[in-house]
Amino acid sequence: MGAQIHKFEAIVVGGGGAGLYAALALSKEKVQTAVLSKLYPTRSHTGAAQGGIGAALANVEPDNPEWHMYDTVKGSDYLADQDAVEIMCNEAVTTVYELEHLGLPFNRTPEGKIDQRKFGGHTRDHGKAPVQRSCFSADRTGHMILQTLYQQCIKNEVKFFDEYHVMDLILESGICRGVVAYQISNGEVHVFHAKTVLFATGGSGRMFKITSNAHALTGDGMAVALRRKIPLEDMEFFQIHPTGIYKMGILLSEACRGEGGILRNGKGERFMERYAPTIKDLAPRDIVSRCIYFEVRDGNGVNGKDYVHLDLTHLGAEVIEKKLPDIADFVRTYMGLNPVTDLIPIQPTAHYAMGGIPSNFNSEVLGDEKGTIVKGFYAAGECACVSVHGANRLGTNSLVDILVFGRRAGLSMAKYCRANDFAPLPKDPENEVLAQIEWLRSNAGGEKTAVVREALQCTMMDNCGVFRTSETLQKAQGDIAELKKRFLKIQVSDKSQVFNTDMLEAMELNNLLDLAQVTVDAAFARTESRGAHYREDFPKRDDAQWMKHSFATLSAGKTDLKYKPVVITRFQPQERKY
Ligand SMILES: Cc1cc2nc3c(=O)[nH]c(=O)nc-3n(C[C@H](O)[C@H](O)[C@H](O)COP(=O)(O)OP(=O)(O)OC[C@H]3O[C@@H](n4cnc5c(N)ncnc54)[C@H](O)[C@@H]3O)c2cc1C
Repeated sequence: MGAQIHKFEAIVVGGGGAGLYAALALSKEKVQTAVLSKLYPTRSHTGAAQGGIGAALANVEPDNPEWHMYDTVKGSDYLADQDAVEIMCNEAVTTVYELEHLGLPFNRTPEGKIDQRKFGGHTRDHGKAPVQRSCFSADRTGHMILQTLYQQCIKNEVKFFDEYHVMDLILESGICRGVVAYQISNGEVHVFHAKTVLFATGGSGRMFKITSNAHALTGDGMAVALRRKIPLEDMEFFQIHPTGIYKMGILLSEACRGEGGILRNGKGERFMERYAPTIKDLAPRDIVSRCIYFEVRDGNGVNGKDYVHLDLTHLGAEVIEKKLPDIADFVRTYMGLNPVTDLIPIQPTAHYAMGGIPSNFNSEVLGDEKGTIVKGFYAAGECACVSVHGANRLGTNSLVDILVFGRRAGLSMAKYCRANDFAPLPKDPENEVLAQIEWLRSNAGGEKTAVVREALQCTMMDNCGVFRTSETLQKAQGDIAELKKRFLKIQVSDKSQVFNTDMLEAMELNNLLDLAQVTVDAAFARTESRGAHYREDFPKRDDAQWMKHSFATLSAGKTDLKYKPVVITRFQPQERKY
């Protein structure tokens, strides 16, 4: 069986916010563009984003992009590249207005301006008090973004290949030439020949047992790039969001606290007052998640268990139903509780990959820590690392990041397409993918994907979660090595061609295993605590040694780590107090 060949100037892999904004920009520049997505585009995880998109519009109270920049850099524990953060915070404002003009139905103030609410880590005048910066559409902001962008892409005649699972990147002599994809509906393999390729494939939260991430977030783009010798940047930083539904991980947006919700321990105390006296429950996520576990360890969990309460009862029915309607539904459906009258049991949940495919602020992919550009290859959104989030992302800053750098990707790809011809395809670029599929179909060793995946998720959650030590990380390293061996005996029971999700899940597990390895190895090497990476054996931030980004590559199954300095422009690192 060979492969069908398609030819487009630009291929966008991923139909989430980053991919669709890039496709829209490309189509406006009259570049022949196709979007490949393993999910129907409007089912992408961007659609699950609840709380909002941060931009210093100053519609409700004084604000400006420089304050937004300060908060983002401080929130990142000073690991973000400040030149990129500055671009993001400035362009956030124009991006939100552009979304408004594209038809996005934002909530409004009584005067008809875009309404804004508070969110963790976003402050007025360099940390003085929380500020209303998050623009929102009830608690369905991401859903509205996705629908708006998808409609605009259809209007601009972007071609969509839905339910195509990309398995390989065609890269030769430092020039990207396309991708190889598996058509989920019939098992056929397709080669897409292109001048430029954008990876906008989203996150990898499925590496962890308790996660807010959708089932499909298996880090495919990052893993494909890694196997093609592209490094991954800052993989040791994975955000664990404080408020997931207990035992399920389903997210209860930070908008709950933005609207005034508070956290209470088992004694009913508002414990964040003790840890972050100025902004309390609206401290950044890394801090709040740790504080929840400090309370649990001190015996202050609810009923002696490993959870605390989110209290919305004082907000009143009207605020809850109007501003947090989906959250209220989740609480009723999944917990059988009424958020208007009941306290909600919550537990931290794995949420967001700060690390990813290294890119510059034109979304060009960097092939090494020296900044060598991989021609024709771009990355944007959660799978990329620009780096605007450093060691910890602030809430509402991902939607900004995916749109600002998604659009920038589209514009720089258009420029590249105008200046360059198609680089020729190598001979039979589909062969490795065909061999992998054949191996999966015929391999017989009795190991089940679901069992190996669960073991991976458990070890990542227990040993590479909110707290880490060299001991727990070594345990995870050993477990992952063992699980990789077990993967070699993976047995797919469905042998059919049509919607073979059994096979797809095995491919996705393979991706998660590689990503988990580099995550744990980078975390083991970093002997300091910064942002989401908290080493109990090295509890202090160590700027002299570690003010640098990690770049991990895999060669012959081993992780190789290199480092690159952080770009500091305006804000010198300081102690992070809230
Ligand atoms: C529950 C939840 C709530 C959130 N709330 C907020 C919020 O309020 N504000 C905020 O700023 N951020 C929020 N975030 C984070 C934010 O939503 C995401 O980081 C962001 O939407 C990611 O966008 P993306 O375009 O990079 O990827 P996604 O939207 O995840 O899209 C990824 C795309 O890649 C495609 N894809 C993946 N692998 C392949 C493959 N192998 N082949 C082909 N296609 C592939 C998928 O089909 C999909 O179309 C939230 C996240 C979650 C999980």
